[in-house]
Amino acid sequence: MPGTKDDKSHRESDPSDQRQPEMPDSIADGNLVDAERDILQELETALSEHIALILEWNRHLIVRDEDENTENSGQPGIAAHPHADDHIDDHDCNFGAWYALNQHNRLIDQPAMHALATTHEQLHNAARRVLKHFDHNGTIDTAEYDVMALRAESFFSQIRRLERAFRTARSNVDPLTGAYNRQTMLSDLEVERERSIRTNSATAIAMVDLDHFKAINDTYGHQAGDQILQAIAGILQSHVRPFDKVYRYGGEEFLICLPNADMRQTARILERLRRVIEASPVKLDNDISLSITTSIGAAPILPDRKIEQIIEKADRALYAAKESGRNRVRLWRSPENAETGKK
Ligand code: GH3
Ligand code: MG
Ligand code: MG
Repeated sequence: MPGTKDDKSHRESDPSDQRQPEMPDSIADGNLVDAERDILQELETALSEHIALILEWNRHLIVRDEDENTENSGQPGIAAHPHADDHIDDHDCNFGAWYALNQHNRLIDQPAMHALATTHEQLHNAARRVLKHFDHNGTIDTAEYDVMALRAESFFSQIRRLERAFRTARSNVDPLTGAYNRQTMLSDLEVERERSIRTNSATAIAMVDLDHFKAINDTYGHQAGDQILQAIAGILQSHVRPFDKVYRYGGEEFLICLPNADMRQTARILERLRRVIEASPVKLDNDISLSITTSIGAAPILPDRKIEQIIEKADRALYAAKESGRNRVRLWRSPENAETGKK
């Protein structure tokens, strides 16, 4: 399982520890569900570590500790900043090092996270300025201290906001496959239906069902089945257009919403998906590779139909695909005639 406790080894705060922080597997391998969980943990750790650092740092200012005359006395915790010399190897602050390492990941490479990193740097700089003044003059510069306190408040509230954003995003996602969940699907499809009507643009809904999945579970076990669901969800998500959305409809069925696609384009996109899945055997933990096929049915969003009715049409087309031999795409066009896709 990616993102295990070992990934956090850089958090153990032995000051002599010069190890590079590691990038959690989940972030490196793009597993969104685990990566989001790791980011949430990292934010929570950054919050508690910085509260502890500020307390330690305040104590140093108020009560001169026994370390006063040692060479470390000038840089307690928060004032010893990893970016101080553009040199992150000898860091005391895990968040700075973690961010430097992971900032180009797509979950982290976003404005709110950049803003957090900037505030973090400003916080450490402000703390260092207060401490420098204190060490020179034996007094605290109140204005500088207020700036530091403001940066700290801002850093904490930004972390809280980001955590909320990640939690909300996570609650929209099916934890096994990383596809959007059914709850999100229903509200998204309503919005998509209204947009499609308002802009008079064609939109389609597709149902994708794994073929003979029960037999796979029965033969290789439920865990292998789960791995296959994850792999297929990954293929679906990475082979649709950027604005198409993949939802886990339930069990081994996925629903795809395809905005701005008439039925011809829909057939082309779905046929491509079907072929990619067919040509991409899933490698299980025990090194067995399994070829998986899917049956796919699609229906257009029409102004006079409710979402439930459109899903039902797509489902009927899917049923036709199953009936005619599986591993094929079928389009719904009229109640009498579920027309054929390519295969
Ligand atoms: P068909 O080609 O007609 O679709 O046959 P099928 O075997 O895929 O369909 P069926 O509906 O008979 O079986 C679906 C199976 O999917 C049964 C169920 O145990 C399995 N399944 C549903 N959800 C999950 C899951 O989350 N993990 C695993 N491993 N299996 C699941
Ligand atoms: Mg099914
Ligand atoms: Mg099935």
